[in-house]
Amino acid sequence: MSFIQLDNITKSFSTAGRPAVDGLSLKIKEGEIVSLLGPSGCGKTTTLRMIAGFENPTSGTIRIDGASIVSESNALPPEKRGIGMVFQDYALFPHMTIAKNVMFGLNKWKSREKKQRVKEVLELVGLEEYADRFPSQLSGGQQQRVALARALAPKPHVVLMDEPFSNLDAGLREKMRFDVTNILRRANTTAIIVTHDQKDAFAVSDRVVVMNEGVIQQIAAPKEMYRCPKNCFVAQFVGKTNLLTGRMDQDLKSIHTHIGRVALPEESKEQLEKVTLSIRPEGCMLSEQGAYCGRVDRVTYGGEYQELHVRLHQEQDLTAAPMMIYAPVEQDVEVGTLVSFDIKPELVALVE
Ligand code: ATP
Repeated sequence: MSFIQLDNITKSFSTAGRPAVDGLSLKIKEGEIVSLLGPSGCGKTTTLRMIAGFENPTSGTIRIDGASIVSESNALPPEKRGIGMVFQDYALFPHMTIAKNVMFGLNKWKSREKKQRVKEVLELVGLEEYADRFPSQLSGGQQQRVALARALAPKPHVVLMDEPFSNLDAGLREKMRFDVTNILRRANTTAIIVTHDQKDAFAVSDRVVVMNEGVIQQIAAPKEMYRCPKNCFVAQFVGKTNLLTGRMDQDLKSIHTHIGRVALPEESKEQLEKVTLSIRPEGCMLSEQGAYCGRVDRVTYGGEYQELHVRLHQEQDLTAAPMMIYAPVEQDVEVGTLVSFDIKPELVALVE
């Protein structure tokens, strides 16, 4: 049975226009870390706020740990939902010590238990020595761990985190992705994280929910999402890709496109007429005698790789987009050079 269950949730802020969240259904298992990922305005924060109880759905139901949180006729207030919230700006009380901040949600606990619990969660987030400091005396990453400790202190059913990494610089962000996941795993907590950053979502989640215009596009584990994006939106939002249209071969194993025949990772279950392929740029490998060849149109240095745009020779359609290919940085490639490459079928997917 799922631990958190959202059924057909819709939220309309006005009668005109499309709903902010439209018929969203989602099941989450106990202990799972799930990210809601999507572009600005896709409805992820609204979804999180409806789970937290800061916003009521226009229709639909929410259950947590077997209990009805939102039914068609009733909605529990936020404080009765057993939810811990970590806000984007951490929302720590500046005049309170770290220990007092963490204690804040424990007002119903007995004094001795409170102190014990504060000690426990500060240990969990690795800040036991900072109990008597004030938030302004901590770094951004430490403040975030305090916010997480405060959310975890009352032993909530679920922790909700809104853009937890967006206030951190690149280096710290990477460390905090690791720390936050570690802490959530050790606390054995179910968590839902809102982010617009694919790297955040992939690094911290068991499963990712990609949303667009209030509608779920795909729910999958990060690797599956990247390898087998369901549609063009997911393929383009999650990483970079080449989208090509084509016709399926009779053998159901390859697609005829404007760059030539492209093999599928596995035989298609059905014969489809017109199809769209997603080919990841790192799935195109420069090779001396590759099956595809063309002229380099553009080279962009990307640090770990260089991004090439290659116009294929056999391209009949001159308006077709060039192929985006990642090449090793040590390889000398210049605009105008002829290159040939192969395509790894594992990084090819049929998309809707
Ligand atoms: P972001 O990453 O920019 O925060 P988001 O995916 O979290 O975006 P939401 O904040 O959930 O998106 O907003 C979804 C849609 O609902 C947007 O079109 C937004 O303008 C609208 N919306 C959100 N809150 C309200 C509100 N209180 N009143 C009216 N419209 C709202």
